[in-house]
Order: sequence, then C-alpha cells, then structure tokens
Amino acid sequence: MSSPEQLIQGFRRFREQHFTHDDALYRQLVAQGQTPRILVVACCDARVDPAIVLDCAPGDLFVIRNVANLVPPRESHAGYHGTSAALEFGVCNLGVQHIIVLGHARCGGIRALLESGGAANPDSYIDDWMRLAEGARATAERDMPGAPMDERLQACEQRAILISLRNLMTFPWVRERVGGGTLTLHGWYFDIEHGRLLRHDAATGAFEAL
Ligand SMILES: [Zn+2]
Repeated sequence: MSSPEQLIQGFRRFREQHFTHDDALYRQLVAQGQTPRILVVACCDARVDPAIVLDCAPGDLFVIRNVANLVPPRESHAGYHGTSAALEFGVCNLGVQHIIVLGHARCGGIRALLESGGAANPDSYIDDWMRLAEGARATAERDMPGAPMDERLQACEQRAILISLRNLMTFPWVRERVGGGTLTLHGWYFDIEHGRLLRHDAATGAFEAL
C-alpha cells in the first residue's frame, strides 16, 4: 500500500462490504450514534492499529493514537490538550467502561527516549512529549545497567504503560468512575516481534501473555 490511489480502491471495497452488500451495521451506527464501550490509547506506529490487531468492527473502539501511546497527567493551564480532550469525550460523553493503554514492542518513540539518555531538545515536539515517559527510562536504566538495548527497550515500553495508567487517575472524571466501579483501566502490550498480547497483572506487577 503505497499510494493514495490504492486507498481509494480500498475504500471502494469497504463501501461494497458495508454500504452495498450489507448496510445494516452502518445504518445502525448512524441511527444510534457511536456507542463504543472500550477506549484504546495506542501508538501512531503504522504496525499497531488496534482495530486491526484486535479484529474489531466499525463502532467497536474509541481510539486515541499518539506517539508512544502516552497519557499525560491532568494539566489545568490552557493549551491544546488533544489526548486529554479525547479522553474526556470518551469517558464523559460516551461513557466507555474500559480504557486500555496498548503499548507495543519496538516502539520508535520509546527507543528515541532511551537513546537520548533523557536529554531533550527543546525545539522538538517529540522530545517534549516523550518526557512523559522519563520516569520509565530512568527506572529501566537504573534497574538494568548493561542490559542489551532490546531488554531495556521492552522494560521502558512496559513501564511507560504503567505511567499512563497512573496519569489516567489524575483526571477526576476517571478517578470517580474507577472508584465507583463503572470504569476499568487496563495495561496491554502487543509484542509485534512474536505476535503475542500481554496484559499487566496488578497482583503480580508483571505483564502476562494472554
Ligand atoms: Zn510506538
């Protein structure tokens, strides 16, 4: 898939399936509006589209994608808080029941953070954004001195998921719903190298293969 023309061909196949062959799904989605029960925070990485990886249909997932699938903490100052705005819409307007932070192996954003050694270029939006995961980098470097890059990368990718789960709880409308039992947070990790999905187990503190 390398040209916009191929995408147009793809849209024609999609239209054939969902608007010509069987239009029931979109008729329902239009009539009822979107009613996803699951919000996924995923990376922009082209290999980890959650709807494809998790085999979902249109309307199933409310998806937020950004560099390295990070959730910032709540900030009160003015600004263009794209991820926070999408979270607010998913939680407060759509009433999703689950939020999954879906990390992945071989994440370029996390790799860049590790390779930078925590030194951020002030002119880089990416460096500034990746400072959200600085705690994961620092912990991985401290706990795994001399470990191969791939191992430190995986540790940092997985710890960054936990930072995002903690940051989710800084939003009062998340905290209230989690406390009330109407919203559950999940940390998942897609191992694109071995085709595995892992889930963070709060009891063991480890990511366990599903
Ligand atoms: Zn990534």
